[in-house]
Amino acid sequence: MRGVVMYAPGDVRVEDVPDATIIEPTDAVIRVSATCICGSDLWPYRGLQQVRGPSPMGHEYIGVVEQIGGAVRDIKVGDSVVGSFVASDNTCEICRAGYQSRCIHQVMIGSIGTQAELARIPLADGTLVPVPGEPTEAQKVSLLAASDVLGTGWFAAVAVEAGPGKTVAVVGDGAVGLLAILAAKRLGAERIIAMSRHADRQALAKTFGATDIVEERGADGVAAIKELTGGYGAHSVIEAVGTQEAMLQAIGATRPGGHIGYVGVSHGVELSGADLFFATVHLHGGPAPVRRFLPMLVDLIMTGEINPGAVFDMTLPLDRADDGYRAMDERRAIKVLLTM
Ligand SMILES: [Zn+2]
Repeated sequence: MRGVVMYAPGDVRVEDVPDATIIEPTDAVIRVSATCICGSDLWPYRGLQQVRGPSPMGHEYIGVVEQIGGAVRDIKVGDSVVGSFVASDNTCEICRAGYQSRCIHQVMIGSIGTQAELARIPLADGTLVPVPGEPTEAQKVSLLAASDVLGTGWFAAVAVEAGPGKTVAVVGDGAVGLLAILAAKRLGAERIIAMSRHADRQALAKTFGATDIVEERGADGVAAIKELTGGYGAHSVIEAVGTQEAMLQAIGATRPGGHIGYVGVSHGVELSGADLFFATVHLHGGPAPVRRFLPMLVDLIMTGEINPGAVFDMTLPLDRADDGYRAMDERRAIKVLLTM
């Protein structure tokens, strides 16, 4: 099968690799219908995360089940499925509490790779969610967004208790930040402030429900949020970047008693205990338990209630994945869809 392999920062190749096969009896193998490049794939691409030899890439996927292991009960060959970037049994105490991304049997799908024609999905019964009916092409794209960026944005919006009467600020205008706006809007937030300095991303943020745009960053960004909120700061701030600057911006922009949802994969963030102590905020984040939200998100997509697929602004065949990485690295694309 064809599959994306990262050899070193900036060195992404599409090669013939061995076909994905069943290894554990709880596995399924899916024929990938579409996959995509994640902002988190850019950390190793930029050399900010170690690449340990040639590595398969990708953790977002929709597809059709091609094979199942002997212990798979609920997922059938031929099912159209979507799953999250962490395989989970969905039965342990952590999963049942809604934190499937930290299942005690978790397997990171990124270590297996889904930027390929076939993908092995561990713990298939717990991980995969069948899609009812035949999705349209547009719905397929939205289901792919649900696999990570929509689910992650949704978790962030839930983590910050976005809802009626709340002002939600979003740090980061990548796909996760933009879809966190969509989620906050669906959850009933009154005011949603997108922090972005790119006209195309600002426009999409408004489409998804942003009411205000703040272009300033750092201390100026914090001051702008304070000014928009009568000096208080936002009730809820979503941090969808993962850098020191973004995290400090989130903490500074949150009012005492407010909530911060941090879902950008943390790189080099160091916080002062005293600053945290006096911030007096709720901090909740981490790898999003996308599986918790997937059945609901699949339903919202298949009934036409939401269109998260709008975050994909570039589509390339799998064999041109290298161009896709470059486009995202240079911020010429928000999110790149890879077709088979
Ligand atoms: Zn579990």
